[in-house]
Amino acid sequence: MNRIFQSEQEAAAVLRDAGLKATPQRLAILRALSGDVTHPTAQELYERLATHFPALSVATVYNTLAALTRVERCRPLDLGGPARFDPNVAPHDHAVCERCGEIRDVKAAETRPKPRALTGFSVRRVEHIYRGLCAKCAGT
Ligand code: ZN
Ligand code: MN
Repeated sequence: MNRIFQSEQEAAAVLRDAGLKATPQRLAILRALSGDVTHPTAQELYERLATHFPALSVATVYNTLAALTRVERCRPLDLGGPARFDPNVAPHDHAVCERCGEIRDVKAAETRPKPRALTGFSVRRVEHIYRGLCAKCAGT
């Protein structure tokens, strides 16, 4: 499920839940991330929106995404570079192409055994990253 909201009224409510005023800029950020399957960075979203919103800053994009993250309407994805943001907050894994950088959602296995070596540790979340080549880059 990649959509953060279903209707325009809900979009404004999502921002208010996150403690933000529903400004046109923030609604545009929310719209840009909702349904996006590319796991964009704040900078990438900013570049998409900057022509329509000349007063927009990367900081506003980043702060909006951080507020949405706190209320679990999106989640950050740490792949080693700048933080990426995922509108899909359901548990899932990712496959990353090492050549073109494509990041694909992968359905996670229903249950994953906890390694026996991990006693005395309470696991809250397990995330797997598969690294390799996408079909296009592998030429198959
Ligand atoms: Zn690729
Ligand atoms: Mn994802």
